[in-house]
Amino acid sequence: MVIETASQISGSTGYGDAEGYLVGGGIGGLCLAQALKRTGVPFVLFEQDATLGARDRGHRLRIDAAGQDALARCVPVDLLYLVHRTASLAEPGPWFVDSRLRPVQWPISGGWTTRGNAVADICVHGQTMREILASGLEEHIRFDHALIEYEESAEGVTARFANGHGERGTLLVGADGIGSAVRRQLLPGVVPEDTGLACINGRTTATIANCRAIGPEICAGSAAVVADGFLGVIDLMFFRDPMPRLAAQIVPDCRITDVPEYFHWALTGTRACLGVETLPGTPRELDGIVRQLVRDWDPALQAVFLRGDPAEWAVHPVCSLWPDRAWQSQRVTLLGDAIHAMSPANGSGMVTALCDAADLSGCLARAGRGEGRVAMLEAYAVTMRERAIDAVRAVSADGSRLAAAA
Ligand SMILES: Cc1cc2nc3c(=O)[nH]c(=O)nc-3n(C[C@H](O)[C@H](O)[C@H](O)COP(=O)(O)OP(=O)(O)OC[C@H]3O[C@@H](n4cnc5c(N)ncnc54)[C@H](O)[C@@H]3O)c2cc1C
Repeated sequence: MVIETASQISGSTGYGDAEGYLVGGGIGGLCLAQALKRTGVPFVLFEQDATLGARDRGHRLRIDAAGQDALARCVPVDLLYLVHRTASLAEPGPWFVDSRLRPVQWPISGGWTTRGNAVADICVHGQTMREILASGLEEHIRFDHALIEYEESAEGVTARFANGHGERGTLLVGADGIGSAVRRQLLPGVVPEDTGLACINGRTTATIANCRAIGPEICAGSAAVVADGFLGVIDLMFFRDPMPRLAAQIVPDCRITDVPEYFHWALTGTRACLGVETLPGTPRELDGIVRQLVRDWDPALQAVFLRGDPAEWAVHPVCSLWPDRAWQSQRVTLLGDAIHAMSPANGSGMVTALCDAADLSGCLARAGRGEGRVAMLEAYAVTMRERAIDAVRAVSADGSRLAAAA
């Protein structure tokens, strides 16, 4: 790979030699950064937030077998081990019930994956995963850098940031999430479609009193509640040891925040069915909506919702972004939610971002061995599109089923 010197422009701090810039410090961008560090490709990662913990990303994330394999291709073995050790110990695999806790069948795609006879999927805490993935990247990450635009030329690509800095490098990877500034410029007119669905999610601390009220069946692991026109998912996030202690044992330099054990829950359905056509403005309004949705549910299920703190709940409109349009660029590409977005309900968005990171780092390493950067970027984009279209299609089919049930 040809390494060019990043030059300092318009008041930039100048970050030395950089083969490529990554924009966005979400899980996709951080995973790619780990892989580039491992293969010795110079880079700088720009993140708009002031710190890694600037906003709450404290929901649970399920990583299936493909996501775990992709992660293993990107991160060093000690960090991979730490991800697995910080995963929830609760029994994996969903238990489908109705709102009265009676077992039911529900044909959901993207079900839990298996290796041999065992469930392969693991559930991790989103913020912990980001903290682990940021470990060892301190010298590469620039916080408080919100990209506003870039300019591509035969000589390189220049990124401009809201803080007035500008940087020139060889490549730019837009890993800047669903509102991607890079995509806006690379694929003008390609915008996420509103599916009419929404997801309300929250968490409830797994204190002894809460676990008693919630009962042993739900405390065993994951439950999917097939309700009247919408779907509820509940996962117990129960850890083997306090997070900082696990980090100290495995990667002493990695700083991770302690996370109290909790039940993560999400309610997904049409906005009309959930009563969130107008997004609730206050925790009190959201509390009223959730109480109404679960009012006839079994008391053990109700306890999961009613014992939580509405200030920690959120409503996410569900958008879908199909990565079916090719782009013309020799130096700019996209990764993760920036180019494909789907409902969080069946947990594939982050997994697809991890697979993108593994594929793109492989392509960049091959380009470094002389296979041609432009051809490798194109090869990445083709593979990414195929995989992500399949993922968005599967999740959209679930969304249509929910909309039909409403
Ligand atoms: C409630 C919920 C549950 C979910 N559960 C699962 C699950 O179980 N499994 C799963 O696979 N997926 C799940 N997802 C989806 C998953 O979280 C996303 O698909 C994944 O986080 C996408 O990662 P990303 O790195 O592409 O984007 P993001 O995580 O959105 O990261 C983008 C980053 O870019 C930064 N940024 C944005 N704009 C700029 C800019 N202009 N300049 C610089 N930086 C910028 C942002 O601050 C952010 O840090 C869930 C989502 C939600 C909301």
